[in-house]
Amino acid sequence: MQTTTHEPDRFSMPASQLESLSKREPILWVNPNYAPLALVDVQSLEPAQALERFKRHAPVLRRVFAELEASAGQVSSALEPANALADVLAGAFGPCSRQASLLEPARGNWWIKRDDALPVAGSVKARGGFHEVLSVAEDLLASHGVQCELDSSEASRIFSQYTVAVGSTGNLGLSIGLIAARLGFRAVVHMSSDAKAWKKQRLRSHGIQVVEHEGDYAAAVAAGRAQSEGDPFSHFVDDEHSVALFLGYSAAADELAVQLDAHGVVVDEAHPLFVYIPCGVGGAPGGIAYGLKQRYGRAVHCFFAEPVASPCMLLQLASAPGQEVSVYDIGLDNRTEADGLAVPSASPLVAPLMREMLSGIFTVDDETLFLDTYLLHQSMGLLVEPSAAASFRGPLWLQGSEEGKFYQKQNGLERVMDQANHVLWSTGGSLVPESEHLKFQERGRALRAPHPQASKNGPR
Ligand SMILES: *Cc1c(COP(=O)(O)O)cnc(C)c1O
Repeated sequence: MQTTTHEPDRFSMPASQLESLSKREPILWVNPNYAPLALVDVQSLEPAQALERFKRHAPVLRRVFAELEASAGQVSSALEPANALADVLAGAFGPCSRQASLLEPARGNWWIKRDDALPVAGSVKARGGFHEVLSVAEDLLASHGVQCELDSSEASRIFSQYTVAVGSTGNLGLSIGLIAARLGFRAVVHMSSDAKAWKKQRLRSHGIQVVEHEGDYAAAVAAGRAQSEGDPFSHFVDDEHSVALFLGYSAAADELAVQLDAHGVVVDEAHPLFVYIPCGVGGAPGGIAYGLKQRYGRAVHCFFAEPVASPCMLLQLASAPGQEVSVYDIGLDNRTEADGLAVPSASPLVAPLMREMLSGIFTVDDETLFLDTYLLHQSMGLLVEPSAAASFRGPLWLQGSEEGKFYQKQNGLERVMDQANHVLWSTGGSLVPESEHLKFQERGRALRAPHPQASKNGPR
């Protein structure tokens, strides 16, 4: 594949933005193909299927996971007001918040969607991963002509002959591994070299086999796929192509809608909803955005957040459909502390679905991730993993940057921004060991040094 320096027209974005991107400078990219009224229903991609599957097996989930006792087997997370975080961020002048910081109050209401605290798996991966394993288990029982609960001894006798395998930087492995092992499958997780040691340890402690691979996330997925191929007793959960994962994530839209309703939040064109979601390969944020678009149409605006070293979805959506693109093509190295987001190429299943549906993507450097992880704890007492903090500056980008103002104008939003609701999707953290959280907090605290401008104008 040729490099972009010889092909400036390969990506549909201003040359200055492409340059910033290759220099690892944070940007907000507004999707030129965004179509507020794009037909978003894709036949056979029905979030309702996933909702029903979760409902059908809630009693099983409740029995096999003590953590799901309280929710009667429902895999869900809270929606919490986050204006306290908004106040701190709008006045935070870290070394890397130049472009998106404001000297004015944040507008609209901020919320945080607490997938960092999703039971059992501790990340957004519980949604997609659980859904896929439930669906595999159902199919297996059907193909054996057996009718029984997924946690019956008869089911587990059948499952024990099968392997569920997955390639992951960590969180997907935790989600798939934990539920597969609990239902009686043999579980194998292929991990990239950037996977965190504690995640490997955790998996092994649950009897899950961990296979380590040199190289990045894509290499781990490819190795897992190759090993499963041709084995009729192995199911490979393919993060780059899986419809079942995607649908599992999409069911989150319904959950959010119910919660917004319960808080009395109105979503319509006069009260726009903005949702900001960290993006790795694209399955989780893509599924959630897809579900939300189906529900709210042009009243919802979805933005993804990616590390400056791994903007794979941004590059994919900014290039011609069907082209193979990786972050290495523009000289980036895909090295980031946000292990859940360290992905070199976007999902070929999800990227085409997002082409007209997604409003835009902003990028975040690692320092900002640590700073914002720290500021979240300072303002709201919550501990998340750095990947989960990637979404936090979304509203500030929209409010304070040239590109964000352009988006507002283009979509007739300027007059309604005070009635907007912003949902920051917090995607992981509750399984992170305390010693790791301490390190994250320490790194964030060290970055708290005030911006030179702050002394002039004073932080809020
Ligand atoms: C996996 C993950 C994401 C992104 O999900 P993708 O499906 O890879 O795009 C975001 N945050 C965390 C913590 C994750 O583990």
